Amino acid sequence: MKNSQTTLFTFHKIREQGEQGNEGAWRAFLDFYSPVFFRLLEIHGNIDGAEAPRILRKALEALTANGFERFRATSRQSEREFLGDIRCLLLEVALETAVNPAQAESAPSGIFETGKIAKLLEDLPLLHKEMLFFKLSGYHDDTLERVLRIAPRVAEKAFERLTAEYAPARNAERERCPWPVEWLAFLKQARAMKTDKCLSTHQFVRVHDGQVSWYDKEPVEKHVSACLHCLDSWTGIREVGYWRRAADPVSASRITGLLEVLPIEKAPAKKSFFARLCS
Ligand SMILES: [Zn+2]
Repeated sequence: MKNSQTTLFTFHKIREQGEQGNEGAWRAFLDFYSPVFFRLLEIHGNIDGAEAPRILRKALEALTANGFERFRATSRQSEREFLGDIRCLLLEVALETAVNPAQAESAPSGIFETGKIAKLLEDLPLLHKEMLFFKLSGYHDDTLERVLRIAPRVAEKAFERLTAEYAPARNAERERCPWPVEWLAFLKQARAMKTDKCLSTHQFVRVHDGQVSWYDKEPVEKHVSACLHCLDSWTGIREVGYWRRAADPVSASRITGLLEVLPIEKAPAKKSFFARLCS
């Protein structure tokens, strides 16, 4: 169900007016994007129930602290780049907060060492790397097919690499990473591997949308293929774009609960006719 108060907002309006603490902009932000955030927490972090809003509230506090400092630093160019920025923050807060995620198994030690993951992905075409990366993060084949718009069976050879300690990622019963804490820690490490050769998420969005020529696309894909930092951003942009379209809406009461932690200017309550007479 769409919230009638937020239908007039666009991403650009939310981005612009959010900085000023506009209540309508933040209500629209939560209406549009909290469904995406809940899905990310569920899949990557195995976090749901009452724990999910608790972590999202912490992430929102971090996003809006010091006069919206982190929010001001998010992308203005496109909704996916903006959500990609917030995804990084959210997953880091989830890692710091999720001490004991529900039903999580402990991963065999070293399973997500960056060198080991790079080896697991080695010599695969980029699409297969992406699919393997999504599988490790907990995605099931049917969702993967909708995210990438291609049947995951094309990467069956890549999935065959998920043996021994990685096997639970291949056939996870629930669509969640089997080892969320280790996975979130790995993503944090991958993000820290950024170099001056890394590319902007804006370039990734352009490639995903088919806005660049083969000539310009080839070096981008080559870099992403060889860089865990950029592979995380590249797949992150895809998943936020998908969940923006596909995630189930969040109830109005849940949104009101999230809104409470934000440093926004609340519109004054309208005075009743009687109160106006007496003032
Ligand atoms: Zn890179």
